[in-house]
Amino acid sequence: MANLNDYIPIVGQPIIDDLKLIAERLHGKVIRNINSTAVGGGVAEILTRMIPFLKELGVDARWDVIKGGEKFFAVTKKFHNALHGKAENITEDDLQIFMQTSQSNIAELDISGDIVFVHDPQPIALIAKKAANKWIWRCHVDVSDPQQKVWDLLMEFIPRYDAAVFSAPAFSRPLPVRQFLISPSIDPLSDKNKELPQEVIKAVLEKYEIPRDKPVITQVSRFDRLKDPVGVIEVYKRVKKYIDCRLVLAGGTASDDPESVEVLAEVRERAGKDKDIHILLLPQNDIDVNALQRSSDVILQKSLREGFGLTVSEALWKAKPVVASHVGGIPLQIKNKYSGLLCRSIDGAAFAVKQLLNNPEYARKLGENGKEHIKNNFLLTRHLKEYLLLFLSLYHLEDVVYL
Ligand code: UDP
Repeated sequence: MANLNDYIPIVGQPIIDDLKLIAERLHGKVIRNINSTAVGGGVAEILTRMIPFLKELGVDARWDVIKGGEKFFAVTKKFHNALHGKAENITEDDLQIFMQTSQSNIAELDISGDIVFVHDPQPIALIAKKAANKWIWRCHVDVSDPQQKVWDLLMEFIPRYDAAVFSAPAFSRPLPVRQFLISPSIDPLSDKNKELPQEVIKAVLEKYEIPRDKPVITQVSRFDRLKDPVGVIEVYKRVKKYIDCRLVLAGGTASDDPESVEVLAEVRERAGKDKDIHILLLPQNDIDVNALQRSSDVILQKSLREGFGLTVSEALWKAKPVVASHVGGIPLQIKNKYSGLLCRSIDGAAFAVKQLLNNPEYARKLGENGKEHIKNNFLLTRHLKEYLLLFLSLYHLEDVVYL
């Protein structure tokens, strides 16, 4: 794995020097991260990259995953959807299941550490174990328009934290605790994002039996309704009437997401017998995702709701032209017609994809601008710095000025 000095050619020496300097003040501090899955989805993706670098900087970063059964994750998936504003029927039973599993995690997990960094709603109730240490709740979800019942539940816990972190200004809520706005990031040197030799890309396409005879449109996402994979097929069908192309829908599963089997079945049904639609159920394989993104002519992210949308950063970093929905953190990454194309409907997405396939020079320019934007704003080094400053700020409450 890369070490921090390997990032100097990408971000410059001063950024790395800054990180080392700030981290000195946190040497030896135990930062315990807790989330609900070790693989699958953006949170696990970020923690996998973040933990080793914090350690390299002398911070004792740790990562634990809560335990939960099928019922618990079915309930927390409902919460997730409801926080994104989807209508979900949250029952008293659901609330009970949530609290029971939370109680057993509270009883079983070692939650010591100078700072406990809790990611997303699933482990939020662990705050019951707060002692004299500092606790942060890191929300990766767009909670700007949540279903009230679930938000009320979260509000039973959030005020006990020392701080809350959101991915974008639009996601913040009035809260009685300090709030920080910190966008996620990608690691440019990870297997997911590093440059790949053409032979590797070719081998991955052969493995998944994707010929390079026509333009390829790709969406990489968990099979989740909020990622709208069926909508992606509709987009492809509209494009296909005018431009012969292939569609790659690549997605794995996450252990905290029980809906994927059902969604995958819906997707397969909608795809029917079209041999130009490639539905790939990927094992966790970052090189494969990287190669699929790099070999695509257009990357689509047609989410109905989104947290930040790391797949968009990943595609832009590869200088790919991206068509993505105007939701969640995506507009932070794509300035319409400058670093990609934003869409609000199936027809809008199809129009944008056609435009890019018909005009490769325009597509190339958008991709190039997108890469520059990610480089300046959404790389791991910026994220590390903001996390370090966040940790430090918890020990400097007297420096905070309340306006
Ligand atoms: N991902 C992956 N394999 C898959 C589907 C997704 O490795 O089959 C990765 C994807 O490359 C990205 C992350 O999972 O790094 C998804 O993060 P994002 O913020 O886009 O969405 P989330 O799943 O967190 O809602």
